[in-house]
Amino acid sequence: MEMPQVVRKYCPFCKKHTEHKVRREKVGARSRRTLAHDQRRFLRKKAGYGGFPRPNPKGREKPTRKLDLRYQCTECKKEHIIGRGFRVKKFELKKS
Ligand SMILES: [Zn+2]
Repeated sequence: MEMPQVVRKYCPFCKKHTEHKVRREKVGARSRRTLAHDQRRFLRKKAGYGGFPRPNPKGREKPTRKLDLRYQCTECKKEHIIGRGFRVKKFELKKS
């Protein structure tokens, strides 16, 4: 799908509709919190012999990934996300 680079959206900081620049975050930019309790447990379990604690998700990877879109308000320059993204095969930011 195509999406315009600048969209008019609600800014939760300005509390009104403003122009937003759309940016696509690179894959893997958001990393896991290694100090979170479940992540520490997982790393402890994975250490040493024994390997992965649950069936490895090999061979059943989904054909598309969810988009990680960031919207930057042009008035307050703050960035926020809307929803959790959606799956799409092809994505393009259209210049207008
Ligand atoms: Zn704003």
